[in-house]
Amino acid sequence: MSNPSLYPCFLGPYGENDVLLEKLAVEFLRDHVYWRRNFHPEDPPVIPTTATQRADYQAFEARMRRELHRLSAALKRSVPFHSPRYLGHMASDLALPGLAAQMLALPYNPNNVSDDAAPVTIDLEIKAGLQLARMLGFNDDPHHPGCAFGHLTSGGTVANYQALRLALALKAFPVALCAAAPPGLTLPDDDWAAFTLPTQDCIELVGQWQHWLSGLTPSARHDWVRRLQSERIEELGLVAFFARHPTLTPPVVLAPVTAHYSWSKGLKLLGLGRAQLLAVPERGMRMDTDALDDLVNRLRAERRPVLLTVAVLGTTEFGTIDPVHRILACRDQHAATGFGFGVHVDAAWGGYLATLFRTPEGTLRAFSDMRQEFSAFPSRDSYDAIAALGGSDSITVDPHKLGYLPYGAGAFICRDQRAMPLLVEDADYVFAGGTGNDYFARFRKLGRYILEGSKSGAAAAAVYVTHSVLPLDYTQFGRITAETIHSAEAFAQRIERFAAQLAGRFHVCVPFAPDSNLVCLAINPAGNRDVRTMNAFLTRLYETLRCDPDKAVQAREFYGSVTTLRPEALGATDMQRVLAALDLDPATLLPDHDGADRLVILRHTLMNPFLQDSENGLSYIDHYFDYLARQIVSVVDQRSAGMAA
Ligand SMILES: *Cc1c(COP(=O)(O)O)cnc(C)c1O
Repeated sequence: MSNPSLYPCFLGPYGENDVLLEKLAVEFLRDHVYWRRNFHPEDPPVIPTTATQRADYQAFEARMRRELHRLSAALKRSVPFHSPRYLGHMASDLALPGLAAQMLALPYNPNNVSDDAAPVTIDLEIKAGLQLARMLGFNDDPHHPGCAFGHLTSGGTVANYQALRLALALKAFPVALCAAAPPGLTLPDDDWAAFTLPTQDCIELVGQWQHWLSGLTPSARHDWVRRLQSERIEELGLVAFFARHPTLTPPVVLAPVTAHYSWSKGLKLLGLGRAQLLAVPERGMRMDTDALDDLVNRLRAERRPVLLTVAVLGTTEFGTIDPVHRILACRDQHAATGFGFGVHVDAAWGGYLATLFRTPEGTLRAFSDMRQEFSAFPSRDSYDAIAALGGSDSITVDPHKLGYLPYGAGAFICRDQRAMPLLVEDADYVFAGGTGNDYFARFRKLGRYILEGSKSGAAAAAVYVTHSVLPLDYTQFGRITAETIHSAEAFAQRIERFAAQLAGRFHVCVPFAPDSNLVCLAINPAGNRDVRTMNAFLTRLYETLRCDPDKAVQAREFYGSVTTLRPEALGATDMQRVLAALDLDPATLLPDHDGADRLVILRHTLMNPFLQDSENGLSYIDHYFDYLARQIVSVVDQRSAGMAA
């Protein structure tokens, strides 16, 4: 780690902060026990103090110990995420505040389904949502009616699904309201106008409806709530809803080619079907917004409604950032001319990059200030994309990725909490105005808004405590994020030396400029011109970098990952450039041939904060490239030996 102020933040690759973590674990376990004892101290111990002398007690303890030892031994084969020798997937060491908070909260076992089961951690979850909202540029003032709302999920997949569910609820609400036809409300002219109403207008319509209801007698209110409910898509299901509205067709979702496969899962689950997920072409690994605009125009002409356009902030495979600002401009321009759709940003990976952009006061840092800190980050487009986040309709962020928190912590944040009543399970209560104006009171019955029922309150505590110890701005949490960008920049520079060392023997190419902390690399042995042969070479090289469940972890010097580069994502021009740089024959890239329709490339996630060890003057990045140089030579030698034999 190059920034000594981060020394206390992690357990450390060597377990350097073991004493600190042990102290915290013991201190708060004791504290928990005192809490039990002080609940009703007049209650005597139920388990006798002599219990430990019983034979069955001792036998139980022995069995438990044996199983725990077996588990502990087996876990030694775990992937060493903590180590700076691990450059594979999106995992690293865990930040200490979250780990300690999770351990502390676990024996209390709070259930964040509602405040009945989690009087403390439910508020921490709502607050963690507000912390993330502020980081992303949404309104985070709970006294403001248009404040954002965020909650945690098991991960990005469920958060993305929540985005689909909310977008569909918002889109179909005006259609249901027109059908119920309450007198005195200003409603869209027809089904098409209702179904293509811009998101913000849909939210306002929810507010008008609630206000209108509040002026009725309780029994009239009850009747109207029922009447609306019977028209809603959530009540009717897709089949009956669209049968009732024959001028409408099920809406499509637009996402870039490089989008995560959770979007495909989501469309299947929603019942819209994968055929309704349309791929937006890319240019240089980022969504091509001209192509997006063409696609939207075509869909408009065909009278096919759009539910959501998904922008990806930090693609899972490449770390690239879609131009959110231009995607929002496209949304706004179509909204102004009567074709509304939502924009969701899938920032499961890249959401925490926003910590670098935020000042402690909550304002945006200037582009020029940021460029002084890094050599190429952020690109102008990345800066504009992250600066524009506050204009999107909803965002997914994974605290269990770049938030350095334990698994089971994704997050969904929507820009305007007034949309959330549409997701509520027991609609009666909410629509009848029984919610009150208190933001926290409204969301404490969390289970009614979310996909899960029972869920971990300890995970919420961990996220909240992490964000409180390390506020989500560039002076605090951003120091960790900065470390990852510095590592990625050092890694990219080191590739230049690596390429120079190997010149004449291997062609080395960074296929596209990295936007964040993922760096990809293609290597082709000199003399080879065939795509399939290079792919086979890189696949064999990956054998020396992947996690092998049958081997001791110590047998591996470094861990990496692979991905593939497809012409659909890179675009024709950039693909030609990459093929030329690798001296590959373009005629060997064959669209319909398995294994030859794309390039296999190495993928490196540079989120480990210890890649540059300034204490010992070591660079694990240097070590990695020395290792890689040895491996590629030996893979080529093995192959020549194999061919000779
Ligand atoms: C990781 C990721 C997801 C899925 O998140 P999980 O937490 O694994 O469910 C979705 N989208 C993107 C861009 C991701 O990187």
